Amino acid sequence: MKVVSLAKVRDTIKDLVQKANFELQDDVLDIIKEMEKKEESPAGKEVFKQILENIEIAKDEKLGLCQDTGLAVFFVELGEDVELKKDDGLGSLREAITEGTKAGYEEGYLRKSVVEDPIRRKNTGDNTPAYIHWELVPGDIFKVTFIAKGGGAENMSAVRMFAPAAGMEGIEDFVVETVDKGGSNPCPPIIVGVGAGGNFEYSTLLAKKALLRRPLGTHNADPFYADMERRLLERINNLGIGPQGMGGRITALAVHVEAFPCHIASLPAAVNIECHAHRVLSFEL
Ligand code: SF4
Repeated sequence: MKVVSLAKVRDTIKDLVQKANFELQDDVLDIIKEMEKKEESPAGKEVFKQILENIEIAKDEKLGLCQDTGLAVFFVELGEDVELKKDDGLGSLREAITEGTKAGYEEGYLRKSVVEDPIRRKNTGDNTPAYIHWELVPGDIFKVTFIAKGGGAENMSAVRMFAPAAGMEGIEDFVVETVDKGGSNPCPPIIVGVGAGGNFEYSTLLAKKALLRRPLGTHNADPFYADMERRLLERINNLGIGPQGMGGRITALAVHVEAFPCHIASLPAAVNIECHAHRVLSFEL
């Protein structure tokens, strides 16, 4: 039985939310550099130059990559053979994640972006609650993946319930239409997470997981979905929206598709749009 200290979880998250907001990971940086070379429009090239400069400044000066430092979204994989040690006054894993988020956003001078009620809109003042997705897994794995999810890109996301006859073409048209409608709002070049199948709520979760579960720009292990990712990337980059909507070849850096079994009468599909400030970081204890 592995023992995981809640105080250790809290302290790791405090540092993790800051590091994620200050530094893009290598897979993201590599793809931005690769796509910069492919951009043809002068305005688009200039935007890439500014994005790369901003990345350097944020890392060197420990500043948020963007003023929107995002909702704190966590995916927790908790092994059935893990015992949680309630230490330092922390009574639950949720409390440890919440306290780590509060402390990290405060210490890093990261913007507090959560309102306590969707209509009355008073800021909670500490960027909590954290948005936590739990997954109970076999063994003694304890893994947490964090994404700081900005509002501009999240707002351009969509879900649709298709009849099965819509098939692959229906989903592809929906993804391209969603990106086209978003235009410059999600701060392109974007990353597109697609969830195909599941049910209404599961498809949206799949779309978000598609952004997180493998290094950026790698393809689905199933060649059918890998081909779909390639076709979608090409179609999206032919829209001409370009970096920051200034026109150009590169509207998206990558498209990731994840699929899951679904009902015989349904074909749910969700698109989770993510901006180039793709602030994702994981840790295992
Ligand atoms: S969409 Fe991304 S880059 Fe644009 S403002 Fe939001 S977090 Fe920042």
